[in-house]
Amino acid sequence: MSQPQKLYEGKAKILYPTEDPEILLTIYKDDATAFNAQKRGQIVGKGEMNCAIAAHLFEFLESEGICTHFIDCPTPNQMRVKRVTILPVEVVVRNIAAGSLCQQTGLPLGKVLPKPLVEFYYKKDELGDPLLTRDRLLLLELATPDQLNQLEQLALQVNQSLIAFFQRCGITLVDFKLEFGIDTNQQLLLADEISPDTCRLWNQGETDPEQRVMDKDRFRRDLGQVEQAYQQVLDRVLAQEGSRQKAQSKRL
Ligand code: C5P
Repeated sequence: MSQPQKLYEGKAKILYPTEDPEILLTIYKDDATAFNAQKRGQIVGKGEMNCAIAAHLFEFLESEGICTHFIDCPTPNQMRVKRVTILPVEVVVRNIAAGSLCQQTGLPLGKVLPKPLVEFYYKKDELGDPLLTRDRLLLLELATPDQLNQLEQLALQVNQSLIAFFQRCGITLVDFKLEFGIDTNQQLLLADEISPDTCRLWNQGETDPEQRVMDKDRFRRDLGQVEQAYQQVLDRVLAQEGSRQKAQSKRL
């Protein structure tokens, strides 16, 4: 059987149609990019590691009542997902100052924010994914006012659930990016991926500002040991998953 035509190839994933028009197949790649693809490289094994991490986090979030596009993983770097129309908005949630928040505001790296900060960015490579105000987002009709409120509420809910999950892994969730899509029933679903590519994750066992980094900042900032950091995140997520399943089977 011939390989179907890809629908879309992004920086970290390729999307294929399947025999079911409502289902797409995502292939997670080892390719890594940063700074709007000005820096390019490979993280060996990233495709499989991110696919497994994202699958476990989507399953966990579903168990917390959040609707996601996740269906299952037919192979280690493949994920079947529900077909959605992706909103051209990246929703970033921050708990601790890092990255562009420090660069653009002068806040010191590591400052704990008084409450989670939700930001919206325009998903448009040609413009460098600029930060949006609410009014600009509505002006561009990237979402309806109702959807905008829903996006904010969902992002905060995901944040609360993930903070608790990663805390159990000995990891601090500094910030992360989410993408959402709309399905054929006009329902908003959490889409794309959640992984060390899209989150800042700090190892609670380390105080050194470079040693503690367990995410794509290791690649962005040439800190080395990138594969090892992703593997550690995966190991801790899987261990957490194992203890959750044990607790569930005990309750049955
Ligand atoms: O670069 P910045 O500090 O704004 O990134 C905030 C968070 O969003 C980080 O966890 C980063 O990995 C994630 N992000 C992403 N994709 C982008 C922009 C940011 O995953 N295009």
